[in-house]
Amino acid sequence: MSALVLRFSSLGDVVLAAGVTAALGDVVFGTSAALAPLVERFEGRAVVALTPGESPWSFARRLPPVDRVIDLQGSLRSYAVCMLVNQPTTRIAKHGLRRRARVALKVAPPPLNVAERYAEAAGVRLGPTPWMRRGPIAQSGAVALAPGAAHLTKRWPEARWAALARGAQGPVVLLGGEAEAPLLARIAEGSGRDDLSLIAERGFERTLLTLERCRALVANDSGLMHLAGALGVPVVGLFGPTTPEDGFWVWAGQGTALGVELPCRPCARFGGPRCPIGDHACMEELGVERVLAALGEICSAGAGSRPR
Ligand code: SF4
Repeated sequence: MSALVLRFSSLGDVVLAAGVTAALGDVVFGTSAALAPLVERFEGRAVVALTPGESPWSFARRLPPVDRVIDLQGSLRSYAVCMLVNQPTTRIAKHGLRRRARVALKVAPPPLNVAERYAEAAGVRLGPTPWMRRGPIAQSGAVALAPGAAHLTKRWPEARWAALARGAQGPVVLLGGEAEAPLLARIAEGSGRDDLSLIAERGFERTLLTLERCRALVANDSGLMHLAGALGVPVVGLFGPTTPEDGFWVWAGQGTALGVELPCRPCARFGGPRCPIGDHACMEELGVERVLAALGEICSAGAGSRPR
């Protein structure tokens, strides 16, 4: 029985859907053209990429026959595709009200991890990571740092990243998207190390090949954090205005989530452009020593145990 899984955006959400494809096995995965190279690496899938500006009708016509649809997007566009495919459909529960209540009142019970909600919609149980195919690789022994995030309040301060790069043992590689190249360059310069590698690219080719060889990643709450999780690379996740309990943590707890206990957290569902109370204490008070200690712990725990 072949299933169509729909998730068009964004990086972290698409990566978290990898667990569903790994559990189902025979999947046609509909996603955006920008994320298609990533989905090619998922276990048990064929990919159909939605090209920029393409209509749901045109997209649906290009799909192979399937027996069921799992809509993990829950948007008007994915609704239209589901109607056109006209097969039994299950859909992710958005939990929008519950998440708004968490941010506004800080009391509502947190929703499930996003990967679990996807699995619930698909009617499967998630297996352990890695969920993405990995090549016959040798570990580089490097530590990857991903200082970017879509929203500014989710970013740990640049000077802390530079100090972390300075204090990390062994090779360090800075990872980010194309637009984050200046940020990576400033951090590299601030670190005082002249042996750092920088990868800031539009696609994921070099990022994937590099990340899967690393022994650990330190990242803000971002898509690259989830990418490492799906590859089975241990993660130290730095959380500010969002919290791991609100659904966006790597599956299977492979790593450590760090944050500062503050009454204002969580203050946003996805982060924002500026701290509403002005001091950005959730990130400013997260010290380098604490992150270095967590990094040291996951590197020691993971030594020799990673799948190759
Ligand atoms: S300090 Fe509090 S209010 Fe400001 S961004 Fe962090 S969680 Fe939000």
